[in-house]
Amino acid sequence: MLHPEKHLVIAIDGPAGSGKSSTAKRVADLLGILHLDTGAMYRAITLKCLKLGIPYQDHASIARLLRGTDISFSGPPGAMRVVMDGNDVTQAIRSDEVTKNVSDYCAVPIVRTVLVDLQRKIGGGRSLVCEGRDIGTVVFPDARLKFFMVASDEERARRRQKDFAALGIGKSVAELISEIRERDRKDSSRENSPLCKADDAIELDTTNMTLDEQVQSILEKAKKFLHK
Ligand code: C5P
Repeated sequence: MLHPEKHLVIAIDGPAGSGKSSTAKRVADLLGILHLDTGAMYRAITLKCLKLGIPYQDHASIARLLRGTDISFSGPPGAMRVVMDGNDVTQAIRSDEVTKNVSDYCAVPIVRTVLVDLQRKIGGGRSLVCEGRDIGTVVFPDARLKFFMVASDEERARRRQKDFAALGIGKSVAELISEIRERDRKDSSRENSPLCKADDAIELDTTNMTLDEQVQSILEKAKKFLHK
């Protein structure tokens, strides 16, 4: 458990399937601090736009929708629920349709402004593990510990295949490699807060690492900070 007076922000960024979510969840759980999955917030807005038939090019409608949308998290780090407008959308935001469209909706400037603001409000003044694409560069640039996780395309696709299988969706590794590369391309090339490694982030290549090894390498650094 983290001492309440030691304020620790751990930023974890990286592309899809690099191991951010499972690692962030476990680290937050072991330290007894908040886990903030920012990707879930972009996914929730994407889900709502798709349901209402609002295309990502319609910035005015998206701005209106954002004003009337409430996103929150509840539950412990290992079993966190995502709640939008009072409905549990934890599973719905992982659908194939949301995954394929989220990179277009999250690049809309007003979406980023509103969600980054909300992320800073949720995180404000407390210890947390925050994961996403722009955490160490934009959302919490003063985070004490920053990690940038990477893994080979093949390994990331294999991990995604398992995630989808758990949802009852069957996809080949080849299909997933091409989807992951397309999402990486959009996430890294957008104008507003693209996916990139902060200068002071520690890179972790998780291709051949187990989840325990990933968690331990972050906890080791966190403990050094806590015992300073
Ligand atoms: O982390 P996850 O794969 O669930 O994120 C879904 C998408 O949300 C990413 O592909 C990216 O387009 C977007 N995202 C973002 N900035 C973040 C977190 C996620 O643009 N901080």
